[in-house]
Amino acid sequence: MTLTTNYIAGEWVSGGAETRDINPSNTGDVVGQFAMAGEADTVRAIEAARAAFPAWSRSGIQERHDILKRIGEGILARKDELGRLLAREEGKTLAEGIGETVRAAQIFLFFSGEVLRVAGEKIPSVRPNVDVEITREPLGVIGLITPWNFPIAIPAWKIAPALAYGNCVVFKPAELVPATAHALSQVIIEAKLPAGVFNLVIGKGSVVGETMIKHPGVAAISFTGSVATGRRVAANSVGATPMKKVQLEMGGKNPMVVLDDADLAVAVECAVNGAFFSTGQRCTASSRLIVTSGIHDKFVAAMTERMKGLVIDDALKAGTQIGPVVDQSQLNQNLSYIKIGQEEGAKLAYGGELLNRETPGFYMAPALFTEVGPNMRVAREEIFGPVATIQRVKDYDEALSSANDTEFGLSAGICTTSLKYASHFKRNAEAGMVMVNLPTAGVDYHVPFGGRKGSSYGPREQGRYAAEFYTTVKTSYTLPV
Ligand code: NAD
Repeated sequence: MTLTTNYIAGEWVSGGAETRDINPSNTGDVVGQFAMAGEADTVRAIEAARAAFPAWSRSGIQERHDILKRIGEGILARKDELGRLLAREEGKTLAEGIGETVRAAQIFLFFSGEVLRVAGEKIPSVRPNVDVEITREPLGVIGLITPWNFPIAIPAWKIAPALAYGNCVVFKPAELVPATAHALSQVIIEAKLPAGVFNLVIGKGSVVGETMIKHPGVAAISFTGSVATGRRVAANSVGATPMKKVQLEMGGKNPMVVLDDADLAVAVECAVNGAFFSTGQRCTASSRLIVTSGIHDKFVAAMTERMKGLVIDDALKAGTQIGPVVDQSQLNQNLSYIKIGQEEGAKLAYGGELLNRETPGFYMAPALFTEVGPNMRVAREEIFGPVATIQRVKDYDEALSSANDTEFGLSAGICTTSLKYASHFKRNAEAGMVMVNLPTAGVDYHVPFGGRKGSSYGPREQGRYAAEFYTTVKTSYTLPV
């Protein structure tokens, strides 16, 4: 098996240690063997990016537009191959893998347009004859640290704006998904970026991630991952000299409220899709279902009936609706929460058991807990698997306060046919994103993405709002003499 390498300073280079990339649908299938970069490789990547920054930051907007457009088109041209690789490596279904790949392409194409729309302001000064100009400038070298659950879309929504606004990039993907990161990097490199502008450094968070955060040559860190790692990233970024600008997107325990007046079929589809698709491994997953008592029993019955029909199998097999869990350690975590929920007194209404399929993989049946209390760990902690809880509440007011009773604040949803409750929920849900009659997961690429409270820190990602993080503002005063 050939060793796949990192991309530093315009060249593919090997690292010291190696990692084996395993297909979670079939643990006998090795997706690839990857070179793991160390501290010295990371420093070289940062230095190459710093050296490339002066020219790249002054490059013309037409050049940057063309490059980003080529990347978007390059991804689209290879969407089936990339989507298949993603599904094989991460375990989401082929349709989800291809869908995510198309999303990555759309993000590059969106930011190819944004390159042409960077604007400033020229305004009068409060002092006579003085002009004031407000302009946006790139930050410098940006370290991008990504999780495994969206192996192409999340890197895309960080790399595209970073490059669009004239920054150089050191990209550190999650250890579990090097193949997709490598394939995306190939498309990026084929678009003919100057050497050093984009670097791929596959390696451990504790080595590559921490080196990027501590290195004075990195201006900013954009991180997506768990809350525990995010805290550490923030503390290290602020503790570094000079202090780094930092953006964190972290976990969720997203509530989906179902009111008595909801369309039952819509509510069940929202809940099943939001809680279990992508194997529940979405930061925006509808993991906490909050259901008013008038519809509760009908909803539970319809949900369990619908869950019986779900096809859980090899991610690459036609007809599979839910693939395996990403790896053994995530599977162990999910199963331990099934036990915790039962010990806490919740009722396991459906699923939660290991499944055997033709090939050895990390298969489990999506699980639904009912009779869940608001203080149970299964209702409060992010499980990050196909496990959903149902809390029964008496009315809308209790549903809203339960929805907001969480340390997280990424996405919140409501299923209702009442305009009054939908409007009230949109105004009062303590979340960065609110969905009405839609799953809490599944967002557009041209609008801001992010949360509140313990889910996010710093400016929003995606859409025009990405400029807040990927640029810095300069205010210039001129007295013409
Ligand atoms: P993780 O925190 O374990 O790892 C994320 C990244 O951080 C990886 O690349 C990892 O190598 C790196 N890392 C680890 N230790 C580090 C350190 N000390 N310094 C710097 N980097 C370090 O998360 P994960 O398991 O890959 O992903 C799952 C988590 O991501 C879940 O909590 C999920 O909710 C969250 N997530 C959030 C969003 C969002 O936008 N809010 C999107 C997707 C996933």
